[in-house]
Amino acid sequence: MSDTRPAGVAASARNVVKRYGRRLAVDGISFDIAVGQCFGLLGPNGAGKSTTMRMMSCLTSRDGGDLQVLGRDPDREPRALKQRLGVVAQDINLDLELTVRENLLIYARYFALSRTDAHRRAATLLEFVQLTERSDEAVERLSGGMQRRLQIARALINEPELILLDEPTTGLDPQARHAVWDRLRQLRQRGATLVLTTHYMDEAEQLCDRIVIMDEGRIIRDGPPAELVRSDVGREVLELRMSSENRARLTTLNIPDATVQIDGDLVQIAGQDAEALHERLRREGIAGDLQSARRATLEDVFLRITGRHLRDD
Ligand code: ADP
Repeated sequence: MSDTRPAGVAASARNVVKRYGRRLAVDGISFDIAVGQCFGLLGPNGAGKSTTMRMMSCLTSRDGGDLQVLGRDPDREPRALKQRLGVVAQDINLDLELTVRENLLIYARYFALSRTDAHRRAATLLEFVQLTERSDEAVERLSGGMQRRLQIARALINEPELILLDEPTTGLDPQARHAVWDRLRQLRQRGATLVLTTHYMDEAEQLCDRIVIMDEGRIIRDGPPAELVRSDVGREVLELRMSSENRARLTTLNIPDATVQIDGDLVQIAGQDAEALHERLRREGIAGDLQSARRATLEDVFLRITGRHLRDD
């Protein structure tokens, strides 16, 4: 299949399938990830994001299709591939009783680094994630944000070409999230390829050049965040709460280049200019309680295409 793959591809999937019993967790997905790209996997719970990451990280084998990561098949050459990957799991899986530095040094053994190299890299990485001053403390004494940064540092000990991060900022406070984002941006600037899953749409908008949105094992959108917002929603969104009478009148109205979404008493109208849309409603005598007039975001795209109902998997 190499002839159909663009040059400079860090990973590519063709019709990849993963089943758990009769459940299709991943249902024939295809994508290419360019070298140096920050690629985001989004989707509701149970969409198949983690399973996709696990297949790329050599943690789960696939049941069908073709998958190449850094030119290798993760099912066939996991050992060689793992040497070149950095994997940051969703759960904190550090050794809590060991010190910060020891966690890095022990992990370095998997990559057969010399003692000197391991110490040198650990020191550089602790500086990079701003944990140098905590080097000799037990990990259990660190905050959640620090532990996450350490986990990222650990994944970098082998100087990986591709870094896979499963929900890297879930559960962190805003300051800690921004600290992680800073580090990820720096890695990008140094040329690393990043693949991440996230539930935070602002995170995907901030970090990713390209995202795919998955639902029920399939890819339902693929593109740069700004392009998806423009094509799926528009430029701005007007949100109002309205009586059923006004909602009924609204649905009979033809507003060019705008889309109307109604969810209970909440009405969202997306188009080029939220203020102009509001003015139009006023002219028609359709009243509503204004909630917001704002720029359209990736969250609007996400909710439109995956719905507003809860996904408890
Ligand atoms: P996401 O990361 O998008 O929340 P997952 O990849 O974790 O989704 O899960 C996709 C589907 O596969 C879900 O229906 C989930 O219940 C199922 N699944 C995931 N891992 C396993 C497993 N080890 N055994 C059985 N079913 C699984």
